[in-house]
Amino acid sequence: MIKLLVVGTVAYDSIQTPFGKVENVLGGSALHFTNSASFFTDVGVVATVGRDFDLSAINFLKDRHVNLSGIKIDDGKTFRWEGKYGYDLNQAITLKTELNVIESFKPNIPEEMKKANYLFLANIDPALQLHVIDQVESPEAVVLDTMNFWIGNKFHELMKVIERVHMLVINEAELREISKEYNLVRGARKIMELGPSCVIAKRGEYGVLMVSKDEVFLCPAFPLEDVFDPTGAGDTFAGGFMGYLANMGDTSLETVKQAIIMGSLMASFSVEDFGINRIKALTYDEIKARYKSFRKCMEFGDITTLA
Ligand code: AMP
Repeated sequence: MIKLLVVGTVAYDSIQTPFGKVENVLGGSALHFTNSASFFTDVGVVATVGRDFDLSAINFLKDRHVNLSGIKIDDGKTFRWEGKYGYDLNQAITLKTELNVIESFKPNIPEEMKKANYLFLANIDPALQLHVIDQVESPEAVVLDTMNFWIGNKFHELMKVIERVHMLVINEAELREISKEYNLVRGARKIMELGPSCVIAKRGEYGVLMVSKDEVFLCPAFPLEDVFDPTGAGDTFAGGFMGYLANMGDTSLETVKQAIIMGSLMASFSVEDFGINRIKALTYDEIKARYKSFRKCMEFGDITTLA
């Protein structure tokens, strides 16, 4: 039985960064998420693709115990996203969004996935996210991501989703947009009044800020010298985060903090190459080695004069 279920997009992305350009590479919120989460737990994916999609290109995920039976092939073209980044790699500029098969998608969760303990509502139409929540039986944690496209186009539906999730994992700009607060802690608290017990703000190269009822937690981004393509870093973060939670079977604050570290480690690999390539080729030994270097960056002796 799968522990972690994700519903989102499987896409063809065209991306320009200051370091290169690619067209129609594998991407999408659910795919980046699964690529990352599958290092830690059994994942089930629910998504739709068009007849133009080459399913054999994602078969490698089956070797990592991913259940792909929830990916439906519909008449029409696969969802496509085109974006670019300037030297500020924290800011993606959407050039084109072609919804294609997503427009008529009704995510039906396969029977064997309805009992998943952990549910990630990856970036997709909030109306579809609501339809998914209604089908999953009694998940321990439902975590939500979204983006400006949906905040702008489906705000009302999005608010209804927020009321029903345990945690939100979103970009800092989107947190500001939803909460209408510039200050992230204040914005997170405002969102928590709607229902979630924890808000995790992704801040690109500045790391992650978590706000819960009792605590605020900060995690830096791993200090890389070469960042190539930030697309998918957010979903890869969420994959490491939720994969770790599902693996531990626990959502205590301490485990959530460790999961944030794991998510940040995974995201640091994702940006080293275009699309899903780096995480596809990643090994567990590489994750272990980077964990050691990451810890080292955060260690310091006690300042005795302040103790
Ligand atoms: P991120 O992790 O935030 O960089 O997400 C990148 C992925 O989001 C890309 O692979 C896109 O295919 C996907 N994406 C872009 N726009 C949307 C959208 N409006 N809805 C769902 N997924 C999207």
